[in-house]
Amino acid sequence: MTRLIFLGPPGAGKGTQAQILAEHLHIPHISTGDILRQAMKEQTPLGIKAQSYVDSGELVPDQLVQDLVEERLEQADAKSGWILDGFPRKVTQAAFLEELLQKTGQGGEKVVNLDAADDVVVARLLSRGRKDDTEEVIRRRLEIYRNDTAPLIDYYSDRQKLLTINGDQSQEEVTHELKETLG
Ligand code: AMP
Repeated sequence: MTRLIFLGPPGAGKGTQAQILAEHLHIPHISTGDILRQAMKEQTPLGIKAQSYVDSGELVPDQLVQDLVEERLEQADAKSGWILDGFPRKVTQAAFLEELLQKTGQGGEKVVNLDAADDVVVARLLSRGRKDDTEEVIRRRLEIYRNDTAPLIDYYSDRQKLLTINGDQSQEEVTHELKETLG
């Protein structure tokens, strides 16, 4: 049973690597960013509420993402494991998740910290061309990462759940290291 959380700055390659590893392990890749973007495209109530936050690089309110994660982890395909990508993004969300997993008997999760240098992530994001990948929004997302998300490295390290992988390497090298460590 594999339950993994992918942590790392925007542009570290979390989405790509989480997708590859999830296929390799036959478990769902659950990206809160992907779920929010899909909801925005379909203009669902969730999408409408999330839009202005996502477009400006701010975090959407905890309650919105926590509800969507709780609902997603209840689905049948998540019973055999999962990879969470983009959640939790702050300590309050991590505390929520810890309680949720305890409540639903889904413990034993590990956290992959995909670390990468700022100049590497900015170059990658600028070449990706997503709507929230303008230079100004990228700068804001990195700032939020440093202030709100990076403290999760200590949070999970204290709980002996953290594995760190060097995300400055090529995509193939990172995939290889992940499969060696977790596959
Ligand atoms: P991502 O695809 O993970 O880069 O997420 C894109 C955007 O979705 C972020 O910049 C946030 O606006 C929003 N988002 C995704 N996950 C979360 C989360 N766990 N908490 C708050 N906002 C989130």
